Amino acid sequence: MSKINIAIDGYSSTGKSTIAKLIAKHFSFTYIDTGAMYRCLTLFGMRNGWITDGEIDEPAICANLDKVKVTFGDSKGKSLVFLNSEDVSDEIRSMAVSQKVSVISQIKEVREYLVHLQQELGMDKGVVMDGRDIGSVVFPTAQLKLFITASPKIRARRRFDELKGKGVTVDYDTVCDNLQKRDSMDTSRIESPLIQTDDAVLFDNSNLSPEEQMRMLISLVQCRIS
Ligand code: C5P
Repeated sequence: MSKINIAIDGYSSTGKSTIAKLIAKHFSFTYIDTGAMYRCLTLFGMRNGWITDGEIDEPAICANLDKVKVTFGDSKGKSLVFLNSEDVSDEIRSMAVSQKVSVISQIKEVREYLVHLQQELGMDKGVVMDGRDIGSVVFPTAQLKLFITASPKIRARRRFDELKGKGVTVDYDTVCDNLQKRDSMDTSRIESPLIQTDDAVLFDNSNLSPEEQMRMLISLVQCRIS
C-alpha cells in the first residue's frame, strides 16, 4: 500500500485528534499531534516564568525554542506526550495551558520553528497530522486534506465531558469561553491563521457517531491511496 500524508485541520474540540489517531491506526501511519507541540512549548514557557497572567516574554521564549523537545508515545492504548522526556500528557490539556496556548501560537518565530520540525516528520510520507495550518502551511501538497467542524455547543460539551472524565474540576461556561476565544484567535491571527483551503474536504461531524465518521473517512482515505 502506498503512503500518503493526511492533513487534518479544524476548530478546537472537533475530535480532530481522535479521528487522526484512528485513521493512523487503521492504515499503519504515524499520528502527529501538532497542538501538543504548541501546548508543550507553552507549558515550558509558563514553568520558566516567561508566560504569566500579566505578560509574555517573547524574546526569552524565542531564544529557548531549541530547549523544548517534544516526543510521543503510548501506554495501554493511551497516547502520551513527553516534554524533555517528562510525561506531560495531562498537564498540557489543563485550562491554564489552554488559556495561553493560542497567544503563544501567534508568535512568528514559534510557528516557523515548529512548522520546520513538523515538515521533517512528514518527509517520508505515511503521516496523519492534525492542527490549524497543516493543509495550508505544513503540508500544502498533502494527498488528502480534511477540514473538521462541528457546532460550537457540541464541541464545548465534548471538551467539558473529556475534562470531567479526567477528574478536572471545571465549569461548562469556562470551557465554552475558552473554545470561543481560541477559535477567534486562531482564525484571525496574522501568522498562518486557521483556514479551510480550497482543496480540503469539509467534514461536519456534529451529528455523526464515531463509527459513522470512521466508515466515511476510511473509504475516503482508501480512494486517495489508490
Ligand atoms: O489542537 P489543540 O486544540 O490542542 O491546539 C491548541 C492550540 O495550539 C490551538 O488553539 C492553536 O492556537 C495552536 N495550534 C496552532 N497550530 C497548529 C496546532 C495548534 O496554532 N498546527
